[in-house]
Amino acid sequence: MSYPWFEALQSQLYRQVGEQTLHHALLISGIAGLGKVELAQLLAKQLLCQRPIQEGPCGQCHACALFHAGNHPDFHPIKPESRHISVDSVRQLNAKLAERSQQGGAKVALFYDAQMFNESSANALLKSLEEPSDNTFFILVCESVGRLMPTITSRCQKLLIKAPPDCRPWLAEQGFSHVHSGILQLYQGAPLVILGLLQQGRSNEHEQIADGFNQFLDDPSHCFELADFIAKDLTTRMRWFSYLLHDVQKVALGVKDDQWVFVNHKGLLERCARLWPPTVGYHLIQRWLGLTNEFQQHSGLKKELLLGQYFIDLKNQIGGKGAS
Ligand SMILES: [Zn+2]
Repeated sequence: MSYPWFEALQSQLYRQVGEQTLHHALLISGIAGLGKVELAQLLAKQLLCQRPIQEGPCGQCHACALFHAGNHPDFHPIKPESRHISVDSVRQLNAKLAERSQQGGAKVALFYDAQMFNESSANALLKSLEEPSDNTFFILVCESVGRLMPTITSRCQKLLIKAPPDCRPWLAEQGFSHVHSGILQLYQGAPLVILGLLQQGRSNEHEQIADGFNQFLDDPSHCFELADFIAKDLTTRMRWFSYLLHDVQKVALGVKDDQWVFVNHKGLLERCARLWPPTVGYHLIQRWLGLTNEFQQHSGLKKELLLGQYFIDLKNQIGGKGAS
């Protein structure tokens, strides 16, 4: 499956395959929901196809049939086992890549989640990356290059996939017109994430955080319920709450509601804007971002507790004014 937002990059890569100038190690990165894996698979298929054309793999040859059936012997997909890419899987890969290609063409290794290397599996791959056997290609996919070891990233050509500036025309083609711009912000404009939520009727899920926060303002004993809810899908839901805090600032500063994300929660936003002035709101946002960064850097933190503490502090900061 190809998508319009990476079409230009895709044809550039196909052209390089045709001209035999493709870098032997590619690192495809970008947020979730952009189709990075689909691009990686298309590229692998193009490399293995016996009659590739500029538009892509032919889809007719023996190699394409094998690839489609999921058993091309020169295609080596590596998925993490539980928490890591194991060193054994990399050693087995190295052994296979050292042999001749079974179909007489290219050999392709595709790492579905390159963030899952640990030190030993990353080290096991280094030599192959540095001195690849003939006609061998490595395609690594990850969300954030920063989480990979520099020894790996420095040996790869980095390809960053970005979300399209506005995916609403594409969503409309998929049958979903009138998508609110707030949804784009909440999910960083990632078309496939947003499409998935729309298809499952879940595009209003973020409103639960507004309801939870409203409940907490009524009754602070709900703070750990709210914390638990956020911790269950930490990155996404922390982003939701930061948009809620920003919306409060917008209300306080008189920004029109077409710029809000939580348009359906006017009452809550106005209530918050009465509870704290923009200076306090600024401080709340800064602390929230600080917490987000801490969670990104230290995976072992007790998230529910720290989130709960944040809400208790917020309550203390606005004093006894919580009740509506
Ligand atoms: Zn083919």
